[in-house]
Amino acid sequence: MNSQPILADLTQNMNLETDSEIDCQVTSNGHFADGIPISKAVMPNGKSISLLKTMITSACEKNCYYCPFRAGRDFRRATFTPDKLAHTFMRIYYAKAVEGVFLSSGVLNGGVSSQDKLIDTAEILRSKYEYRGYLHLKLMPGVEKDQVERAMMLASRISINLEAPNECRLKLLAPKKNFSEELIQPLKWAEQIRRNKSPHKNWNGLWPSSTTQFVVGAVGETDMEIISTSEKLFSQLNLKRVYYSKFNPIEDTPLENHPAENPWRQHRLYQSSYLLRDYGFSLEEMPFDPEGNLPLETDPKIAWAKGNLTEDPIEINKAEKEELIRIPGIGHKGVQSILQNRKHHKVKSIQQLKRMGIGTKNARDFILLDGKRPARQTSFL
Ligand code: SF4
Repeated sequence: MNSQPILADLTQNMNLETDSEIDCQVTSNGHFADGIPISKAVMPNGKSISLLKTMITSACEKNCYYCPFRAGRDFRRATFTPDKLAHTFMRIYYAKAVEGVFLSSGVLNGGVSSQDKLIDTAEILRSKYEYRGYLHLKLMPGVEKDQVERAMMLASRISINLEAPNECRLKLLAPKKNFSEELIQPLKWAEQIRRNKSPHKNWNGLWPSSTTQFVVGAVGETDMEIISTSEKLFSQLNLKRVYYSKFNPIEDTPLENHPAENPWRQHRLYQSSYLLRDYGFSLEEMPFDPEGNLPLETDPKIAWAKGNLTEDPIEINKAEKEELIRIPGIGHKGVQSILQNRKHHKVKSIQQLKRMGIGTKNARDFILLDGKRPARQTSFL
């Protein structure tokens, strides 16, 4: 199971078919000297770690239209055994080249069989090598419920890529995958397990979080379709994060002549998903245009504020935190800072807000300071 951006494919960078060993030299920028790609991942505590992203096999029987690993595409495939992959990772880990691992796979002999190999690899890491670090485990399309539970007992995070926001779009992108039964169902099981079972038997006594990813801009899906599905994933299936991966064409795939997506679209989707997940906005409040897309040129929080706060600005000295967080330029830290400061004195000037770390350039058109709109900034142009 793979998607854009393509998981760094260890198998393509090593001659593993001849069982070669890895020369664990690390360059100063944290990458192996022989070119094995290493990514950065940000942990829930904000700490960034280096991560080896790899596949147990780059062979795949599915034919996803955007994917370089799709069946029938002519390139050299490579496959690890679970033992070999676990051993290889531990060598890299002991060499201090990485601090964690992201395990994925192409689908070979069905999703269940491929998932077994990923779980076996994770079992070997946790049991044989007593590895206690970060382990992101991919769920294969068609995985079974007991496999989801086993994966959750071993992983720090699990994910399954939906790729498209609904069944119709998925058919145009990955015709051999079933949206509801193969992709959504495992996420439902993961949430059921989190709600109904104690995680005390897990490697660290915690259930892992779930994430997913969409390919953006390959099959004409609208932002509304993507954000609407994202909203359900956050609210109903408790996903920690949804990733949006802008489409880039890959040679010798059915979509090789389809244009690459504008990176701003990806950015606006992330901003909108944070508004839904962290800022109390609803789907109906997203500033979609009549075609169901977000404005590329404007931050969606600013677009919402222009339509809702320009004539009805928010009084900084009286607003509840749920109102303050809706003001552009004010995040959760800014809200705390305002609430703390106004206990002691009224906020009457933009300079006071600046001292609290507020992005006043974005906020000033939508606020009142002690009943007055802040003075407009003088332009020298
Ligand atoms: S399942 Fe689809 S996306 Fe995953 S590796 Fe196979 S062809 Fe690529």
